[in-house]
Amino acid sequence: MKDNLIERDGKLWFVEYHSDYTGHVYAVRRVLYRGESCCQSIGVYDLYHYGKTLVLDGKIQSTACDEWVYHEVLVHPMMVTHPEPKRVLVIGGGEGATAREILRHKTVEEVHMVDIDSLVLKVCKKYLPEFSRGAFKDPRLSVIIGDGRKFLENAKQGFYDVAVIDATDPIEGGPALLLYTKEFYELVWRCLSEDGVMVTQAVSPSYEFEDQITCTVSIFRTVGSVFPIARYYRAYIPSFDGEWGFVLGSKTHDPLDLSAEVVDERLRRRGVDGLKYYHSRLHRSLFTMPKNIKELLESFPKARVLRDNEPAFVY
Ligand code: SAM
Repeated sequence: MKDNLIERDGKLWFVEYHSDYTGHVYAVRRVLYRGESCCQSIGVYDLYHYGKTLVLDGKIQSTACDEWVYHEVLVHPMMVTHPEPKRVLVIGGGEGATAREILRHKTVEEVHMVDIDSLVLKVCKKYLPEFSRGAFKDPRLSVIIGDGRKFLENAKQGFYDVAVIDATDPIEGGPALLLYTKEFYELVWRCLSEDGVMVTQAVSPSYEFEDQITCTVSIFRTVGSVFPIARYYRAYIPSFDGEWGFVLGSKTHDPLDLSAEVVDERLRRRGVDGLKYYHSRLHRSLFTMPKNIKELLESFPKARVLRDNEPAFVY
């Protein structure tokens, strides 16, 4: 089982490998769950400093310490970019925290969340209820167990106002590899309404790892090959070992056109309060890149439009 737990110096450690030569080691206070599902190994560990943590195939998905940063940043810039998001699609998002953030917006009438792994959902509901905070009981949320790609092939054209792709990283042989290709984003385009907006997590712009840079810039290029407006943004997430990338794709609305006043007004009108990270003045700055990342996004020779027969994957 790929749970990367080792015993040393009288302690249990979880090792998240980032390459053949580097990784991050976390002391484990308690193992709450270890198992294997249809598609991945699943662990819920209580880590010193980070608290309860979901690990899939040896990779941290979210920790109690900073899951709110990731989920607020994934969801709200895209939700405020759309003037009236009512029908929402989530692909992945097993913890229920992405749905939790979406459901804060009172405009939302229905959320369809498609996750491939029923065991992840079961385990998260049991061991990590503080991540979903009641979202699974909200009557606006329907959970569908299945492959997000297959779901989209049969989804009603133009049905959703917004879509959030909160899947595991593209790992060789992993279940999410084909959720980052041009063919996939074409299906997302098709299921979105005329002014639809989507967002995807887009791995890390950490410049020390060529596979991450290739992948993150390629996801940006690939979304941009389908959507006329593609915007890259990032946030610092400690348990993801630093900077994390996101790509927003939009048919008509540009997140950069929103003033802080409009963001404030949309959040207020929709009853969104109690956020801990995202706010109106942060909105535009999320999209402002340091020079090195800006240059990588403009020209990184190995980056390309990803296709089903030529995806990219990270370690
Ligand atoms: N925040 C995370 C990250 O950045 O790594 C993503 C977290 S969320 C737990 C990832 C979810 O994607 C998992 O629950 C997994 O089961 C789901 N998933 C992976 N491949 C999928 C697919 N092909 N269709 C639907 N869900 C998928």
